[in-house]
Amino acid sequence: MAEATGPRESVDQQALDESVTFTSELIRIDTTNRGGGDCRERPAAEYVAERLAAAGLEPTLLERTPGRTNVVARIPGTDPSADALLVHGHLDVVPAEAADWTVHPFSGEVRDGVVWGRGAIDMKNMDAMVLAVVRAWARAGVRPRRDIVIAYTADEEASADDGSGFLADRHAGLFEGCTEGISESGAFTFHAGPDLPLYPIAAGERGTAWLKLTAHGKAGHGSKVNKNNAVSTLAEAIARIGKHEWPVRLTPTVRAALTELAALHGIHPDLDAPGFDVDDLLGKLGPAAELVAPTVRNSSNPTMLEAGYKVNVIPGHATAFVDGRMVPGGEDEFHATLDRLTGPDVDWEFHHREVPLQAPVDSPTFAKLRAAIERFDPAGHVVPYCMSGGTDAKQFSRLGITGYGFSPLKLPVGFDYQALFHGVDERVPVEALHFGVRVLDHYLRTA
Ligand SMILES: [Zn+2]
Repeated sequence: MAEATGPRESVDQQALDESVTFTSELIRIDTTNRGGGDCRERPAAEYVAERLAAAGLEPTLLERTPGRTNVVARIPGTDPSADALLVHGHLDVVPAEAADWTVHPFSGEVRDGVVWGRGAIDMKNMDAMVLAVVRAWARAGVRPRRDIVIAYTADEEASADDGSGFLADRHAGLFEGCTEGISESGAFTFHAGPDLPLYPIAAGERGTAWLKLTAHGKAGHGSKVNKNNAVSTLAEAIARIGKHEWPVRLTPTVRAALTELAALHGIHPDLDAPGFDVDDLLGKLGPAAELVAPTVRNSSNPTMLEAGYKVNVIPGHATAFVDGRMVPGGEDEFHATLDRLTGPDVDWEFHHREVPLQAPVDSPTFAKLRAAIERFDPAGHVVPYCMSGGTDAKQFSRLGITGYGFSPLKLPVGFDYQALFHGVDERVPVEALHFGVRVLDHYLRTA
């Protein structure tokens, strides 16, 4: 049955249908990224490039490494004085263990109005919705106001070295004029209570600080006195790091998130009052607290340990890895604190590092993103939030592109988006895709 489309929308039934078909078919193209270069996005890149070309666009395929393919295309806008807008989505997915799933993770099965499979929400759904929208524009003769640059990337789920990092380093010209970007991890329905559907739009990301720690000591026989044991020294350091209570650092995005979420709960806190206790406030926000709690401070979790080779031999050194995350503006504090917590006998270095991002929430772009959601779900409450982890937006930020997490999905009560993200039985309702197509069509045309 045909669904009604408003007179000012260019979405037709074909666009709605294609968002489902493309999501399903992209899921069937297994682009599992196991890290270390073990991935091949090329078949998925060719799939999207063919469908862009059929809509009259001229997609460019770009590879740093054979098989690790990125696709970039530009749609010229009607207002040549307007800045360009980047829409990016990654083509790779995290691994899935078929034995754990209700349906095969690469089946792309559509069952009872739901598309199942790895990538259904992260993020072949968005890849498919964007494709469906630009093809609808071609059929209807619609052109957006701003130039729209579409980028489908490889390698987001690992280092981004073959994906957005490569594009930012080597093909910056393709993104000329882009000032803002939208991509994954925002604008999904988060049910914070029986009548409290939220749409968190990401306006910031914590930075990544994966650390390698090395303790050097005196090697020797396990039966001898040894006051310079590398294992003991390292163990003390990582215990301090793991138990460290990082102080609260409220960034502008997190302050806005706290203020808006509190207001929805009838609370009007003074975040600058002496003695303001963010944990106390979070305790009053119910399920919504989880949108903010991971981003009010830096964090540091020891995750890997390596030392020794025989029970009666004291090794000369020991190493550990720590997953650290830094809030925007929290980098200096992170450095100084790590120097202090590791102490003089343990060296630390960045194993992998990405800067935090901060996007303004009082910008015209954020206002338009907010309005696009509210137009199609008037009962929904848009709130800004900061992502606890990172996305390709970090790489594109090096080109001066301000990134927002905006991959719209209207989800029913009980549908736990965040549990399905990288989770078992990842899936997306057909109706959620239809909503996303309508929102993206409206936003991208009028941005
Ligand atoms: Zn993703």
